Amino acid sequence: MVESQEEQIKKESEFSAKNYKPLPVVLSKGKGVWLWDTDGNKYLDMMSAYSAVSHGHAHPELVKVLHQQSELLGITSRAFYTNTLGPFLEKLTSMSGLEVALPMNTGAEAVETAIKAARRWAYKTKKVEANKAEIIVVEGNFHGRTTTIISFSSDNESREDFGPYTPGFVTIKYNNIDSLKDAITKNTAALLVEPIQGEAGIIIPDSEWLPEVRKICTENNVLLILDEIQSGLGRTGKMFAFEHSSIKPDGLILGKALGGGLLPVSCFLSTSEVMQWFVPGSHGSTFGGYPLAAAIGKRSLEVIEEEKLVENSNQQGSYFLAELKKIESPILKQIRGKGLWIGVEIDTKIINGRNICKHLLKKGILSKETHASIIRFAPPLIIEKKEIDWAVHTFKETLKEIEENQIHQ
Ligand SMILES: *Cc1c(COP(=O)(O)O)cnc(C)c1O
Repeated sequence: MVESQEEQIKKESEFSAKNYKPLPVVLSKGKGVWLWDTDGNKYLDMMSAYSAVSHGHAHPELVKVLHQQSELLGITSRAFYTNTLGPFLEKLTSMSGLEVALPMNTGAEAVETAIKAARRWAYKTKKVEANKAEIIVVEGNFHGRTTTIISFSSDNESREDFGPYTPGFVTIKYNNIDSLKDAITKNTAALLVEPIQGEAGIIIPDSEWLPEVRKICTENNVLLILDEIQSGLGRTGKMFAFEHSSIKPDGLILGKALGGGLLPVSCFLSTSEVMQWFVPGSHGSTFGGYPLAAAIGKRSLEVIEEEKLVENSNQQGSYFLAELKKIESPILKQIRGKGLWIGVEIDTKIINGRNICKHLLKKGILSKETHASIIRFAPPLIIEKKEIDWAVHTFKETLKEIEENQIHQ
């Protein structure tokens, strides 16, 4: 007997820790920009698994590589060389302009790797006194969920009762140069920052901010490490978000879309000067850079280029943003975005984000609120104009129905 969605939700809820509160839909299939639930209802994916599905679901080229490589060689550990890792990292370094890469699996692991790299560099190259290295982070950051990373989160929900916290982090204001200047000391190893803050609500800093940050980091011998796990690989309409500012970081963290929507693949990239201090035994991961991940990672990067996903993100993103801005509704407060990464801020006095998402779900659009007041529209980068038109139309209709209901209440 086929279980109803309700029954399946009940089962997942019963046996799963409650660290998530999913929307009430049970998905079982995905293809391109579309997802299906177990009853066969179809939804447009506006979440893309927090940008992990930039290529679209079940991309045929990537599925092919997954099959082929899994029949050849899945995992060996880094105790041996493999024929897939070199080509993957060669591609990644040449695309990013950074010299050396260290592959990991999840985003948080790559952030941890960046923190370790910055600290080692501080002691070995910059000659910071032992155990005194400081890493500057910014308010509203999201870099993952490990104990060290949540130690410098400003979000109480993710920190509370997980102490004692890892020391060595200093928090400054986002988009604020004086705050950065004031925080730098002789012990500062790095500034770790998202060029556009994703989980904070798609917060885009002033265009002068990142170039100025770059200048100050260079003047003070501080590494500029960008977390582009979500903003990277085309999401903002450039391959990397830092290209909007024509700067170059000293360290770059990638993840999410690097796995082509199929596997967790992440990476920390930096200069030879920084990376030289990772010597054998100093850091590692059983799965980091394993043959299957490396094959998928390389093909994911190629597909982004071959299918011009960066250009599509830029073009369709501008169109999508402009169309959304045309909507007149008292529910909408601000609409902002870059590329196919759009945040719609709503008036929570009328309705909260989760309830809008529930309404959108009923109409066939999957999205997720962040901080109760922001709805995110971040479809796979393969989305076409007609799908955007349908999404805008459906969103408009949903808002109208909510408004009318409000008036009748
Ligand atoms: C998602 C995300 C992470 C964490 O990645 P995980 O794979 O969930 O560990 C880190 N930084 C940013 C900017 C992210 O969006």
